[in-house]
Amino acid sequence: MVFERAGEPLRPAELPDPTPGPGQVLLAVRACGVCRTDLHIVDGELNEPKLPLVPGHQIVAEVVGAGEGAERFAPGARVGVPWLGWTDGTCRYCASGRENLCDGARFTGYDIDGGYAELAVADERFCFPLPDDYPDEQAAPLLCAGLIGYRALRLVGEAERIGFYGFGAAAHILCQVAVHEGRRVFAFTREGDAETQAFARGLGAEWAGSSAEAPPQQLDGAIVFAAAGELMPAALAASAKGARVISAGIHMSDIPAFPYEILWEERTLGSVANLTRRDGEEFLAIAPRVPVRTEVTTYSLEDANQALADLRAGRFRGAAVLVPGSSR
Ligand SMILES: [Zn+2]
Ligand SMILES: [Zn+2]
Repeated sequence: MVFERAGEPLRPAELPDPTPGPGQVLLAVRACGVCRTDLHIVDGELNEPKLPLVPGHQIVAEVVGAGEGAERFAPGARVGVPWLGWTDGTCRYCASGRENLCDGARFTGYDIDGGYAELAVADERFCFPLPDDYPDEQAAPLLCAGLIGYRALRLVGEAERIGFYGFGAAAHILCQVAVHEGRRVFAFTREGDAETQAFARGLGAEWAGSSAEAPPQQLDGAIVFAAAGELMPAALAASAKGARVISAGIHMSDIPAFPYEILWEERTLGSVANLTRRDGEEFLAIAPRVPVRTEVTTYSLEDANQALADLRAGRFRGAAVLVPGSSR
């Protein structure tokens, strides 16, 4: 499924089979998660993708070939491919253990063709072995929603009472991790979304309500998953002294002005960008121990536009996943 221009639907296309270059593996895609970032790309809010582009950066795949020098994975191995697809390894960010901020980074499904396809290639150094506990479609949302969400959770620090603003693919995973760590989760949804609020409570949230409401207790930290800038001051206003409020999205509408008094007393606003390979290794080790259970709605590859439309409208709980070949 090919993206050519912002505002237009993805187009089904038959492309030549990709050839793995040096250090790359050829992958038969078994499942690919749909991420809000993909919506930002098709809407033109992230406006420097390669064109034409095969989107998709939560790839679960089988290794079916290897380029020169690629020997990390045996044929038949199951791997996951995340958003971080390549780094230069030499810039000052890479040199200081912050490859998520690499100046030369290339991203899967943005700078590199991704997993809305039957075949893909990936740099073997940026692939993850996947825990056996998860069927393909359940593993896919771990690869972005899960592990970038996990990085956001680490940035929030030791917060006991943690707020999640927007309860979609990432929050439904992170809620389970946070509860497992002994934290208390407060879930904020769109106004009147009783179904998602019940979903959050079912995953261990102590309280669920609308983002316009004040939680019953002040938050020690919050992660804003929704792309609405006004949620940043809303989360600050709901937070206790010293709280960190972290935006986990790659794009957000403008943050409105707010009075300094809601930031005062060592509250912090921040953001999380991308992932390091270490984040992925840590999270994929923790997920089966929680154990994280992902709730997925599957679509055939050809129905990618429908999956994106349903994500935009909030028509499913948890995560959407494309499964090539499932309509045949
Ligand atoms: Zn993503
Ligand atoms: Zn770098």
